[in-house]
Amino acid sequence: MYEKFIPPPFITYAIPIFFVLIGIELGIVKARGLQFYRWNDSISDLSMGILSQLWGLFQKIVGLGIYFFFYESFHVWEFSMTSLWAWAFALVFWDFCYYWFHRLSHEVNLFWAGHTIHHQSEEYNLIVALRQTGLGGLFSWVFYLPMAIVGIPPWMYLASGQINLIYQFWVHTRVVDRIGKLGEFLLSTPSHHRVHHAINPKYIDRNHGGILIIWDRIFGTFQEEEEPCVYGTVKPLRSFNPVFANLQYYLELFKFAWGTPGIWNKIQVFLRQPGWIPPTRTEPAKLVPIPEVSPESFKKYDPEPPLEVYAYAKAWFVGVLLVSFAFLLFYAKFNFMSQILLVTWVTMSLVIIGGLIEDKVWARPLELVRVLSSFLILGYFGLGIPSFLIGLVFLALSTFFFYRTRDLNPVT
Ligand SMILES: [Zn+2]
Ligand SMILES: [Zn+2]
Repeated sequence: MYEKFIPPPFITYAIPIFFVLIGIELGIVKARGLQFYRWNDSISDLSMGILSQLWGLFQKIVGLGIYFFFYESFHVWEFSMTSLWAWAFALVFWDFCYYWFHRLSHEVNLFWAGHTIHHQSEEYNLIVALRQTGLGGLFSWVFYLPMAIVGIPPWMYLASGQINLIYQFWVHTRVVDRIGKLGEFLLSTPSHHRVHHAINPKYIDRNHGGILIIWDRIFGTFQEEEEPCVYGTVKPLRSFNPVFANLQYYLELFKFAWGTPGIWNKIQVFLRQPGWIPPTRTEPAKLVPIPEVSPESFKKYDPEPPLEVYAYAKAWFVGVLLVSFAFLLFYAKFNFMSQILLVTWVTMSLVIIGGLIEDKVWARPLELVRVLSSFLILGYFGLGIPSFLIGLVFLALSTFFFYRTRDLNPVT
C-alpha cells in the first residue's frame, strides 16, 4: 500500500495561484505608493521555499512511513474519504494539532531552530508565506500521530495539511486590514498573523492558529493587533544564505550546549524556551527583556551589491526558480541519483545567488564554478548539442559578468 501511495498534489497546483496573488498584492502596494517588497528579501524567502519543497521530498518519506505504521497498527475508527463530516473533522483536528506544534515551535528551542526560518524576513508580504524550513520534516510528524490513531487515512491526513498550509498563504499580507467581527473572532486573519510575525515585546509568541484563531482564545495566547508591527526575529539573521539560515539556530544551540556544564543543563538548552540561560552560566542574559522596537527606528538588513551583480543574480534566480518548479512537477520520473544531483545543484545555486546579492567576496569565483557545473549537469541529463550551446552561453555570460565587476569592492 505504502509503495504505491501517491500524495495529494494540492500544494504544487496552488503554486501558480500563489504567484498570481503575489502579482495582485504587488500591484496594490505599488498603486498605493508603499514599500512592502524588496528584491533581496523576496529572493531569500523564495530560496527558502524552494529548499523546503526540494529537501522535503526526502524527509517526508520518514514521517509518512511512521504515520502509515501507526494508522495501520493502531487506528480506532475508520474514517471514510467520501464523507463530508469526516473531512470537516480531519481539517479541524489537523488545525488543533497544528496549533500545538506551532506553539511549541515557538516555546521550545529545538523546535524553534526549525521554525525560526519562517520568521527571519524583516518584511511582511505574501512571499514571506513561502519562506519555510527545509528541515521541517524532521520532527513535525510527531504532533499529528493522534490523527493516525483516531483513524484518518494517510491521504486525507496529508490533504488536510496541504489545505491548511494553502489557507495560511493569504494571511501574510498588509493590504488587508480586518475582515469583520465574526471572521476576526473565528479565523486566523492577516491582522492576527501580522501580530504573530512581529517582534514588539507585547506580540511575542502570540496567535499561533493555522485556520482557526479560537485555539489561541481558548489556550490564552491571543493578542489583538494594536501598535504598528516590526517584523523579523528578536536576534536578526542578517544573511541571505538559505543553507546558513536553515542551520544557524541549530549550530547556535549546539555551541551553547557545548559551553554549558552538566548533562541535565545541556539537555535543557534544547528543551527550554529561546533566551533561556542555565543557572550555572554567569553571563547576563542577552535580549531579555525583549527590547521595544518601532518601524521608524528599526534598521533592516539591506546590503547594496553593484547593480550589474544584482541584475545578474535576479536573472539567474528566476531561472533556478523555474527549474525547481519543473522538477517538483516531474520529480517522480527521475531516478534517485538524478534527484540528488538536481537538488544539490539548486541548493548550491541559491547559496551563491544569495552571496552575490550580499556582495560576498567568495560568491563571484564560486559563480564561475557553478556555471561550469551547470554545463556538466545539462550534459548528464543527456541534452546533447543544445546543452553544449546553452552551456557556452552561460559560460560567456558569467565570464563577462565576472570581469565586468571584479574591480568593484565586495565585502568579506
Ligand atoms: Zn510562527
Ligand atoms: Zn507566517
